[in-house]
Amino acid sequence: MHIVFIGPPGAGKGTQCQRLTEHLAIPHLSTGDMLRETDRNSSLGKVVAGYIDHGRLAPDDVVMPILVERLSAPDCAAGCLFDGFPRTVNQAERLDAFLADAGSQVDVVLHLDAQADELSSRLLRRAEIENRLDDNEQAIAARLQVFGNQTVPVLEHYRSRGIVERIDGMRSPEAVFTQIQRRINGRG
Ligand code: AMP
Repeated sequence: MHIVFIGPPGAGKGTQCQRLTEHLAIPHLSTGDMLRETDRNSSLGKVVAGYIDHGRLAPDDVVMPILVERLSAPDCAAGCLFDGFPRTVNQAERLDAFLADAGSQVDVVLHLDAQADELSSRLLRRAEIENRLDDNEQAIAARLQVFGNQTVPVLEHYRSRGIVERIDGMRSPEAVFTQIQRRINGRG
């Protein structure tokens, strides 16, 4: 099963993805983690860091090869959970084409929804704990704007296929996970 997890920064995607991959025993593919792992001293790493630190999306031509390499590994053959990917309609179309070539498809898109005012305060609280360079006020505002402009259209892309499940991210982590399990089981 291929699951796409989409939600604005601060909606609690990381926590839920971790629980869900353990529950389903499928790999967790986070493009944010992959990009953060590129060596900041390499020429690619410098380019990537410039985007991440300012809350802007790395170019599709940088993200796609990294994602495709990971997705081609044998442990992803039976499915995986995409976290933070696709973030643009172009990435979604390229993912669809890649999976179609392998006789597969995205089965369900979980849309973790939360109110905008709650998101920035959650992110600022997280900044104190995790020390992420892109959890400052300016980068947070940019990331929320990018989500609205470039990632919300990805939801529209998948909505036309009837595979988007909206999850209320304003509830407790346990209640959110229960909703997710119900929606997945309903489609299993
Ligand atoms: P995340 O950990 O998912 O919040 O991602 C952190 C940052 O990594 C984002 O703000 C982007 O700069 C970059 N990033 C992660 N995933 C993607 C993607 N699919 N396309 C472009 N940039 C990405």
